[in-house]
Amino acid sequence: ADKILEVRGLSTRFFTEEGQVNAVENVSFDIEDGEIFGIVGESGSGKSVTALSVIDLIESPGRVTSGEVWYRNADLADEFRGSKPQAVDGDLVDIRQLSEGVRRSLRGPSFSMVFQDPMSSFNPSITVGEQIAEAVEVQRRARSNPRSTRSRTQGYGLGSLIVDTLVPSREYVSDESMERAVELLDQVGIPDPEDRANEYPHQFSGGMLQRAMIAQALAGEPDILVADEPTTALDVTIQAQILNLLRDLQEKEGMSILMITHDLGVIARMCDRVGVMYAGEVVERGSLADIFDNPVHPYTQGLLGSIPDVDDPAARLEPISGNVPSLIDSEMPNACFFADRCPKAMSDCLTRIPEYEVDGRHSARCVLVEQEYDPTESIEPEEV
Ligand code: SF4
Ligand code: MG
Repeated sequence: ADKILEVRGLSTRFFTEEGQVNAVENVSFDIEDGEIFGIVGESGSGKSVTALSVIDLIESPGRVTSGEVWYRNADLADEFRGSKPQAVDGDLVDIRQLSEGVRRSLRGPSFSMVFQDPMSSFNPSITVGEQIAEAVEVQRRARSNPRSTRSRTQGYGLGSLIVDTLVPSREYVSDESMERAVELLDQVGIPDPEDRANEYPHQFSGGMLQRAMIAQALAGEPDILVADEPTTALDVTIQAQILNLLRDLQEKEGMSILMITHDLGVIARMCDRVGVMYAGEVVERGSLADIFDNPVHPYTQGLLGSIPDVDDPAARLEPISGNVPSLIDSEMPNACFFADRCPKAMSDCLTRIPEYEVDGRHSARCVLVEQEYDPTESIEPEEV
């Protein structure tokens, strides 16, 4: 399948009083059409920041400081081929090189997002149907007239994605958009969608509200849906239902999903390929089989060893002993970030480790790969 997204060497820093925090360090991965790509890691490993960096939602004091985000969109590529040739490669455009206005216009029809906590993602004083209809409205307007207006759902989950692109009052929510909202509610498995559309968020259960948030995220018919811990706040039975819904929607709509989770059970059940993050880096990347059956990075091996049954949806990453390194730039080791905790560490590990190819699309940042798999070349030469 073709790639819908190709992230190359993405780094994101937060400039705090304690110093520069390297939250995302030289991360690369790609997502194919109709694929579910998972990013798994412990909390604080940089997986959410990676997702937000990709869809351009990093706020001050954070900033994406380097890297490229190539997105396949023939219309955009045609639009910029003449004026910004360095940002276009075939049908791919590097959205990091486009203006903020253009990047903003991609939120909804290109990228959309489902968050962990549905309750904080809706404005409590507006009916669920209206909020979804607004999202529909935004997408229609963004297509025909990308002028700057504000949303009542601003600051509430998806609303923060579409800030400044939405018109504020009820009369803009046309009957047509309300009908579409009801359709979307139906599509995500909400019973009696016409009645439920007129209810307020507090009248929904957590699982139903998560479905409604997914409906809202689908309003723009996104190419890529980013789901950041979409089931963490839900109980186990509901989690399974929401994951099944996402899988069904992915198959029916043909979109791609970037799934962010700390839960290897979610990865095992949902994803086609996986990136394992540790201390801001993707330390291992490959197909589900590569990662679960032939993990080569000691960190991945430790994670898998720490859960007895990866089919158990309640399985959680258990901390491995030792300390996660500080992500403050001046305190970061000039060594493999995992060296402190790695049972296989040796003197060769006391240098920054590049990403080595294990086999085809399976890669890992570990000198063992270089020694045991004898790669002909490293994927990215070490930065000095
Ligand atoms: Fe362990 Fe060395 Fe590999 Fe790092 S590079 S994971 S310290 S063996
Ligand atoms: Mg997170």
